[in-house]
Amino acid sequence: MLSGAKTRTENFLVKLFAVVPLVALAAAVPFAWGWGLGWVDIGLAVGFYLLTGLGVTIGFHRYFTHGAFKASRGLRVALAVAGSMAMQGPVIGWVADHRRHHAYADRDGDPHSPWRFGSTPAALAKGFWHAHMGWLFEREKTNAKRFAPDLLADRDIARIDRLFPVLTVVTLLAPALLGGLITMSWWGALTAFFWAGLVRVALLHHVTWSVNSLCHMIGDRPYAARDRSANFWPLAIMSLGESWHNSHHADPTGARHGVRRGQLDISARLIWLFEKLGWATQVRWPKPARLARKLNPGYGA
Ligand SMILES: [Zn+2]
Ligand SMILES: [Zn+2]
Repeated sequence: MLSGAKTRTENFLVKLFAVVPLVALAAAVPFAWGWGLGWVDIGLAVGFYLLTGLGVTIGFHRYFTHGAFKASRGLRVALAVAGSMAMQGPVIGWVADHRRHHAYADRDGDPHSPWRFGSTPAALAKGFWHAHMGWLFEREKTNAKRFAPDLLADRDIARIDRLFPVLTVVTLLAPALLGGLITMSWWGALTAFFWAGLVRVALLHHVTWSVNSLCHMIGDRPYAARDRSANFWPLAIMSLGESWHNSHHADPTGARHGVRRGQLDISARLIWLFEKLGWATQVRWPKPARLARKLNPGYGA
C-alpha cells in the first residue's frame, strides 16, 4: 500500500518526467541557434510536422478510422503515406487500436485509458503514463480482422501498411537530404536530421499521445459522452484540432472536431479545402441540431 506522501512523490515524478525533457528541448533551441540550428531546420521541421501530423489527423483518424468523408484514390493513398511517416505504427494497426478505443472508451478493453487503474492520485499517475505511452509497450495486439476488415481488404492500403519500415526510413532521411541540398553541406544534413527528423517525430508523438492521456483527464466537457473525454484548448493548434476530444467522442464521424465558436481546427480547414478541390466528397460536417441534443446542462450552443 502507498502512503499519501509516496503518492504525491509519484505524481510529482510523472509530471517531472513529462515536462523536463520538453523544457530541456526548449532550452536547447537558443543554445544551438546559429551553429546547430537555423531557419532551414525550423522550416523543414514545421513542414514535416504538418505533413505527417495532418496525415494522422485527417488520414488515419478522421478518414480511415471514422469515415468522416469519401476520398479520391489519390488522396486516400497520399493520406495513408503521410500518416505512416508519423512513425506511429502502420495504418491498419493504428486504425484498429483507435476503433477499439472508441468501442470501449475508458472501460475494460480500451487500449489506452488513463482511468484503467482507478481514480486515486496514485492510480491516475500510473494511468497517465499508461495512456500516454506505456500502452505501446504492452504486447497485446488489437485484432485487425475484427476492427479494420475494410482496410485489410483494400489492396492499396494493405501495401502501404507493409511499406511502413521503408516509410520510417524515408521520414527520417528526407529532412536530412533536403537540409543537405539546401545548405549544400553535410552539417546542414545533420542538423536537419536532428531537428526536422528526430525532434519533429518526438514532438508529434507526444502531442498525439496527449490526446489519449490528457484529453481523457483534464479540460471542458460540453457534450454528454459515455467516457471521460475532454476538450483541452492549450493543445488545439499543436494537435491540429484533435484536442477538441470531448466533441469528437460526442460525434465521432464528424469531419470537424472544433465544433463550437472560436475552436480552431486546422484539420477541418484542410478537409474543407479538399472538398472544394473535389478530392473529398460526402463530408460529414457537424449537424448543429444533433450536437445540441447532446449538450450537457450549463452549456449553451
Ligand atoms: Zn478518446
Ligand atoms: Zn476518434
